[in-house]
Amino acid sequence: MTVADHLQSLQQSIRQACEKSGRAPSDITIIAVTKYVTIDRAKEALAAGVNHLGENRKEEFLEKYQAIEGEAFWHFIGSLQSRKVKDIISYVDMIHSLDRRSLAKEINKRADQHVACFVQVNVSGEASKHGVAPDEVVDFVHSLEDFPNIKVVGLMTMAPHIEDEDKLRGIFRNLKALQIEIQSMHLNHAPCDYLSMGMSNDFQIAIEEGATHIRIGSSLVGD
Ligand SMILES: *Cc1c(COP(=O)(O)O)cnc(C)c1O
Repeated sequence: MTVADHLQSLQQSIRQACEKSGRAPSDITIIAVTKYVTIDRAKEALAAGVNHLGENRKEEFLEKYQAIEGEAFWHFIGSLQSRKVKDIISYVDMIHSLDRRSLAKEINKRADQHVACFVQVNVSGEASKHGVAPDEVVDFVHSLEDFPNIKVVGLMTMAPHIEDEDKLRGIFRNLKALQIEIQSMHLNHAPCDYLSMGMSNDFQIAIEEGATHIRIGSSLVGD
């Protein structure tokens, strides 16, 4: 299937989820996660009208960035080693995986302007997942005011690959609750307007629970 075909059915599902939850489809940003696919397939996504692209590894990110560059808005969605920050920092528009102070320190040092970051939260508590523990997120976000180049634009989570809809919904709700708590602090460095949650198998539930950025790989650019 072409990306355009996938996109049509994705947009249909987004509209349904928005209708169910009284939200506007224009409030949802689709990030095409191109980590599994070729540069040509990523270009196909752009041609179809998806201009937000997400990559999770430095090498693949740079390869795609060099081929596509200014046509796209670039999201780094994978866990990020501090030593790689300097290689990508000038090219990424948003980092979705800020999960520790040492990483914040390095981003702050290497950036020459504000970097829009999502703080990644390990809501599900799976040992295999990166992210700040939910009960530490508020303090962590607060402490990032030490780093003038860090702007906390939102929170991000990855839900486990499960079918249990109630459990998924609970995870997304917990992230939303943390966002509300952070917003209520009115921190200059942490407007926290966005929620990056929802992937191919769970984006509808994520949208119903408040997602503003959905990260879609297989069901958008996969074959
Ligand atoms: C791979 C990946 C996605 C997309 O996953 P799909 O299930 O293919 O939609 C989203 N977010 C992150 C962080 C990923 O690594």
